[in-house]
Amino acid sequence: MNCPHCHQKVSLLSGAMNKTGKVKICPHCSGRVRLYVSMKTALLWLAPVTLVAFVLSPVLGMLLVGPAGALAVAMSMRLKAAESV
Ligand SMILES: [Zn+2]
Repeated sequence: MNCPHCHQKVSLLSGAMNKTGKVKICPHCSGRVRLYVSMKTALLWLAPVTLVAFVLSPVLGMLLVGPAGALAVAMSMRLKAAESV
């Protein structure tokens, strides 16, 4: 995902992002950023995936809801400028 300040790619696994606390520091520009999950984006990812799985097979759908939900949340993580909150 990209930093809201300098728009450079920031890895979640980088040291700066692994610091505890809600406000993180961008390793490129030292800007303060917050990690948040967009529920709207998560639902946009989750709904079609679960729908297709249930249509194909209700059993498969049941099995896929958990991993699909986790994936949807992962895909929906965004960085937000801490100052704007
Ligand atoms: Zn930055």
